[in-house]
Amino acid sequence: MKIVLVMSFCATLLFPQGKSQKAHVHGSAEIKIAMEGLKGEVEFESPADGVIGFESEPKTAAQKQVVTAALDTLRKRGSELVIFPASSACKLTHKEVEVHREGPQHAEVHAHYDLACAKPITSEIKFGATKLFPRTREVKVTFVSEKSQKSVNIISDAGTLKP
Ligand SMILES: [Zn+2]
Repeated sequence: MKIVLVMSFCATLLFPQGKSQKAHVHGSAEIKIAMEGLKGEVEFESPADGVIGFESEPKTAAQKQVVTAALDTLRKRGSELVIFPASSACKLTHKEVEVHREGPQHAEVHAHYDLACAKPITSEIKFGATKLFPRTREVKVTFVSEKSQKSVNIISDAGTLKP
């Protein structure tokens, strides 16, 4: 727990969050879940380092392959990134998955999903970002619905969020 606190403290010092600038901390990603009724959206944002393993423009065929594979994982395995309780029968459909350049040295990966559940979410949501992308250690998760607003820091996939 101490290590976690020290790490987030350092991150704040190194990357102060300005008005338009987001934190860009390698190893740390963000997941935003917004719901209205049984429908919603899920957004995932991470430094490309945590998802792809590098942030430079891919040049070789091997590098391009690594990028394609990582983005494919986001497209096809969204339900392993955010694991909704089986009782709610939620379905995640990817809308867009892309890489944004952030200046000459950094890049961000952004994935956007539509969410549709058959029943209200009454138990915990789990996360699998580190399992899918081992370089991603920490995920700052926020959940917003008409009934609740919660945020939680998930370290190495440990922890859950109950709406
Ligand atoms: Zn970076």
